[in-house]
Amino acid sequence: MSARESIRERRPQFWQVAKRCCQIAATVDVAFFFLFHILGSPILAWINVVSVTIYVVAYRALGNKQNGLAIGLIWAEVIVHAGLGIVLIGWDSGFHYYLLMFIPALFVSMALRAAVICLVALWSYYIALYLMMWTIEPLQPIAPGALMAVYLFNLSVVFAMFSYLSFFYLTMVTTANRKLRRMATTDSLTGLFNRRHMTYLAEKELARFERTGRPVAFLVLDVDHFKAINDRHGHEIGDRVLIEVAKIIEAQLRTQDLISRWGGEEFLAALPDTSLDSAQASAERVRKALLDHDWLATTGEAIGLTISAGVSEYRRGDTLNSAISRADRALYRSKEGGRNRVELEAGETSEASTAKG
Ligand code: GH3
Ligand code: MG
Ligand code: MG
Repeated sequence: MSARESIRERRPQFWQVAKRCCQIAATVDVAFFFLFHILGSPILAWINVVSVTIYVVAYRALGNKQNGLAIGLIWAEVIVHAGLGIVLIGWDSGFHYYLLMFIPALFVSMALRAAVICLVALWSYYIALYLMMWTIEPLQPIAPGALMAVYLFNLSVVFAMFSYLSFFYLTMVTTANRKLRRMATTDSLTGLFNRRHMTYLAEKELARFERTGRPVAFLVLDVDHFKAINDRHGHEIGDRVLIEVAKIIEAQLRTQDLISRWGGEEFLAALPDTSLDSAQASAERVRKALLDHDWLATTGEAIGLTISAGVSEYRRGDTLNSAISRADRALYRSKEGGRNRVELEAGETSEASTAKG
């Protein structure tokens, strides 16, 4: 993948905004057509007919993913149009402001090296135009009042376009940040927290427990014989089952409970302000909900699915690992005891969690 292609892939929003800019620029040029006719500068008026045509072609090129062609046309239009405006009616027309709008766009639309080269070229052109107008008179000057009108018009358009572009760049950065954060903290299959983020959140709960003494319970939930489900129904159905299991766990727990995909088919939940007994009740609720779920309806296959769970809670002097290890050992006893059950840490077996079905 070339650098330009990768930018095209990575910054699709930029090309959306380029399309919008074509529309705005074409509209502005239609306004110019009439403005210059009124101000008595027919050459400048007719230049705008060419400009509108260029923007229409560029817009269609963007629609056909011919981004290189479109950007080339837009560049040529702005550079020639600004240059002609300046040469014909003078620097005070404010046409040069349009050139400045390329500065941020350059960095978004190109690889850094190309952007810097274009930037230097743009700067040279800008300076050259200025120096030239220092030495020559405008070729087709208009009345001072008309010049002021053109200047104010150009200035206002550039203000509006810059505001729009700034807003767009801001939105792009914010969206990208949000996406990155989501990718860094969640599991892509189930949308639950990933192991790393869960560790971070559970450590914070531990700190809160040490500070306030309010209980925090842990549930480790593991799908029983999941390998067999994969083998019998295929990996894709296996994935769909995991997504559904995650949804069911979320539905059965409270909004303040932290739920993660801890490993392949293993889930870890941290339940703030929850005693061991209440956590056991929650685990039972999840176990029953999964047992009663109609898998035929969600995956199109009749699947017998159960889970086993282990429950623990933070104790004074605990580390995250020690608390989770106790839940893990309880889970191990659930598996040993025949699966489809919930076990508490320290060997306390729940009455309500004998195997069913
Ligand atoms: P047990 O009751 O002892 O937990 O048995 P099990 O088969 O559930 O446990 P085991 O650890 O032997 O197998 C877990 C399986 O989960 C094996 C692995 O291929 C599968 N698995 C892990 N991650 C994914 C995944 O993202 N998608 C699918 N479809 N399968 C997965
Ligand atoms: Mg398993
Ligand atoms: Mg497992």
